Amino acid sequence: MKITKVETIRVDEFFHVLWVRIHTDNGLIGLGETWYLPRAVSSVIHEMYAPMLIGKDPMDREALWSAMFGNVEGFGYAGAELRALSAVDTALWDLAGQAVKRPIYDMLGGRCRDRVKIYNTVGSYGEIQDNEFEQRDPVGFLQNLLDDGITIVKAYYMGPYAAASGGNFISRKDIREALAPLAKQRKALGDQIEIAHDGGGQWQLAPAMTITQAMDEYDILWQEEMIRPINVETHLKLAEVTKAPICAAERLITKWHFREFIERGAAEIVMPDLIWTGGITETKKIAALAETYQTPVAPHDWTGPVNVFACAHISMSCPNVMVQETNRAYYRGWYDRFVEPNITIKDGFLFAPEGPGLGTRLKKSVLDRSDVHVETTTEAREWNWPGFIDPGQKTPHWYSPEVPAKGAKRGVPPAPARKSP
Ligand SMILES: [Mg+2]
Repeated sequence: MKITKVETIRVDEFFHVLWVRIHTDNGLIGLGETWYLPRAVSSVIHEMYAPMLIGKDPMDREALWSAMFGNVEGFGYAGAELRALSAVDTALWDLAGQAVKRPIYDMLGGRCRDRVKIYNTVGSYGEIQDNEFEQRDPVGFLQNLLDDGITIVKAYYMGPYAAASGGNFISRKDIREALAPLAKQRKALGDQIEIAHDGGGQWQLAPAMTITQAMDEYDILWQEEMIRPINVETHLKLAEVTKAPICAAERLITKWHFREFIERGAAEIVMPDLIWTGGITETKKIAALAETYQTPVAPHDWTGPVNVFACAHISMSCPNVMVQETNRAYYRGWYDRFVEPNITIKDGFLFAPEGPGLGTRLKKSVLDRSDVHVETTTEAREWNWPGFIDPGQKTPHWYSPEVPAKGAKRGVPPAPARKSP
């Protein structure tokens, strides 16, 4: 099986979402996704990764991941390069699963469970306007989630106050005001619902400490990104004064970012975002690393219909998955306009996808939309790390677009030839 074409697809309506489709010579199409600055991500894919992939065997996921990462890691890498790699990696896993006719979770070690408990992140789309609902009627909103079978919610009580002070200061009066809805929710619903809190990385340490201590009386499930994950010591200081577990999350990119936070206990709950942190390949490793420190994982999902499928395979196959994030405004509001089938979520659980690979496909109708933008690469080119000296050429070179993949001596050697499914 050889890769013949790499496509990136985006639509103006959801202007941050980018889909990647990887085609092979046996007619299979693998699907991946990422989110944020899709034109920058698309440039990375078509300038570098796609030409590296053409002619390669998609079964060699580890070697391909390492080859792509090796060409971008010199610049700090946590940007469009890693979002692009995440989307491509997901598409390669989808192809591998389709090739052996098994769901991806079977290739990751099989199922630890056939459904995973979900929590709902507050979001809005179309008729589901949960942000407005929560503001207008905080108790009614949670009751509505409970009626839906959803018993865990993640909320953002402090957002406007962080914006007002730049995250540098919070008064006691503001805290009381900000937490008034939470106080009402707990009083009315008691322990019928679990409430997690996301600070969006908006605070400095001192106000974050004040806020988390004030919230402790409401038995918060976790405190996520009250501060940005750029300093392990500040996380440990926050954990010291906070009753709720500290969650380090979607801003950590690759196992190398997560490592120190996990090892030193600065991430008491680990929340990788699969389509930002390095795809299925990397998320499985982050979960295994967390497992060695007896730390649970809660896959992050906030973006598009393919990520939630990819996360589902991680959630089914990793023993230490605690709960899966979902957004009902999205999976009910717009996902089924883009993929078929849609993810199955009911009674507060997400069910294992069925069928080979990811278990979903991009709908054909997406390509017929008037606001669609498709870019395609079909030509192989070799890439090398800048400054690499080609032993054959004896001269440093940067990018040699004229060198075809076949027979090329530079870059990562191609995997040994073998019969692939
Ligand atoms: Mg978050």
